[in-house]
Amino acid sequence: MAIRIVKTDAPKEKVSADKLGFGKVFSDHMFMMEYEAGQWKDPRIVPFGNLSLHPASTVFHYGAEIFEGLKAYRRADGGVQLFRPEENIRRMNNSADRMCLPQIDEKLFMEALETLVRIDESWVPSAPGTSLYLRPFLFGNDPFLGVHTVQTAEFLIIASPVGSYYKEGLQPVSIMIETEDVRAVRGGTGYAKCGGNYGASFRAGKKAEEKGYSQVLWLDGVERKYIEEVGAMNVMFQIGDEIVTPALTGSILPGVTRKSCIQLLKDEGYNVNERLLSAEELKEACRSGALKEAWGCGTAAVVSPIGHLMMDDEVFTINSNEIGAVTQHLYDTLTGIQWGRIADTRGWIHKID
Ligand SMILES: *Cc1c(COP(=O)(O)O)cnc(C)c1O
Repeated sequence: MAIRIVKTDAPKEKVSADKLGFGKVFSDHMFMMEYEAGQWKDPRIVPFGNLSLHPASTVFHYGAEIFEGLKAYRRADGGVQLFRPEENIRRMNNSADRMCLPQIDEKLFMEALETLVRIDESWVPSAPGTSLYLRPFLFGNDPFLGVHTVQTAEFLIIASPVGSYYKEGLQPVSIMIETEDVRAVRGGTGYAKCGGNYGASFRAGKKAEEKGYSQVLWLDGVERKYIEEVGAMNVMFQIGDEIVTPALTGSILPGVTRKSCIQLLKDEGYNVNERLLSAEELKEACRSGALKEAWGCGTAAVVSPIGHLMMDDEVFTINSNEIGAVTQHLYDTLTGIQWGRIADTRGWIHKID
């Protein structure tokens, strides 16, 4: 299917790198197509703008929505590249499968990403740490209220130039274990990147913020015992000389950054284990001093060191609230590969130029 292109005749002014923030500024174009009668139709790039939707649209009533998040990076030689986009494409189709939304042809999806980035190439910023964040999303759009699986859907990709996550260097964050709300349960939608998971997480996030913590650390929804992930990031710990990250049990989002960190560390000979990790074990490791480092990992922040951990009203300080050697190393290596400063030996880079 050929992608039709309608260019804007009113390009917007660019915003300076220090005023970008995250997800507030959008590029000149967007990709969209509709699913109807079992087929995707009219894939096109059009000027960025509002959507007009039927008030009964499925997405508003029954939460049939999934999304992805990846970035286009500007190299020093001026070229632009993506990081493991095929992983996001595959994950989107896994999410679609869970939510009974239509699959998207992988080749068409990749072409849509490439075409949008090429057309809005001037929107890929070049200041250190900045990038063009790409947000594919897909939702059910049937114009009636009956509860049913989706027959009509809409798929879009929008693009937002984003500022450096760390303007003053990598600052450790404080996080709080959430003991009341849960994010997901096995058999539910935890492994799918769907909007509803976020809607359900806002209350705990707000509570954490009010107590002075930037994010929550989720426990499993069944036994309320095992560590799952942090806010919108996966989580890793160095306990003694073992690197531990919660195993993908179905309620955890399988992050591309998580997968990449595991690969990098294993390649370098670290003892990395994906396993169950209880809050009790973590607490014990804090008390004994065995917990050396803790960090979150995700596309937005790459890695985010955890400096304070609050569990049952006890606050533990990790690595003197400083970024640890493993966290720093992962940050340097991943960002090095993403921005093209370090050679990619694993086929992770997808050049757009
Ligand atoms: C997107 C996301 C992550 C991180 O995934 P990446 O592919 O590394 O960006 C982690 N947890 C949740 C809940 C997410 O939505």
